[in-house]
Amino acid sequence: MSQQLAVRNLCVRYGAAIALHGVSFDVATGECVAVVGANGAGKSTLGKAIARLVPATGEVRYGGRELPRDAVRAGVVYVPEGRMVFPQMTVEDNLRVGAFAVRRAFDWRERRDVVFERMPRLAERARVRAGLLSGGEQQLLAIARALMARPSLLVLDEPSLGLSPAAVRSVSEFLAELGREFSVTTIVLEQNTAFAARIADRGVLLRLGEVVESRLSKEELADPRRLQQKADGQ
Ligand code: ATP
Repeated sequence: MSQQLAVRNLCVRYGAAIALHGVSFDVATGECVAVVGANGAGKSTLGKAIARLVPATGEVRYGGRELPRDAVRAGVVYVPEGRMVFPQMTVEDNLRVGAFAVRRAFDWRERRDVVFERMPRLAERARVRAGLLSGGEQQLLAIARALMARPSLLVLDEPSLGLSPAAVRSVSEFLAELGREFSVTTIVLEQNTAFAARIADRGVLLRLGEVVESRLSKEELADPRRLQQKADGQ
């Protein structure tokens, strides 16, 4: 697999607080990588820094070149924690907004049809206001809205957060197929390591803004005791 993303020595500060201290790791084309770590480890900050949403020093190379500030146009889309769909707008209008994120003109309806074909549950609710969907459906809509921009890399921030066990299952089933269905590489920022183990090819463990391990296997992701030992430096 060819290297798609190379993060090198990434540092982010919020005032005097250092949230990321020199983070480096690679992601290959088509991979699904989970970034795991405790609350405050820096997962969201890392996702936002990769998508150019917070100022950072260091390098984010994408397809061999420095990722421009307008990351969405370069194919990198961040899906925020908490879903953030527009509750008063219909499912379809939420998707339309996702298409406007890219300035390149294209027929958003064609893309909507592709998305709906793979997400029949959303297609059935095309005219329903997003605020009336269940938590799991809203999470799928947030992902669908990001897919409207035709990304080559999706960064998903805590997609399992606040969902019922059944919704977590349906979101994980969708994400497990996402890479293949949409030819997209994914980085999933997750505190829920069991969820991460179900969908990711490997994991990156963050602790206090630093990478502890960048090649965790699925088995290691699924083993909370082992992860804790690694986080504790054993
Ligand atoms: P969570 O699961 O709680 O979102 P996280 O691993 O995603 O945690 P971040 O949200 O990236 O971690 O936070 C990393 C550190 O940066 C934390 O110490 C946090 O308090 C701090 N931080 C995050 N955002 C800001 C901000 N806007 N201003 C100041 N400090 C911040």
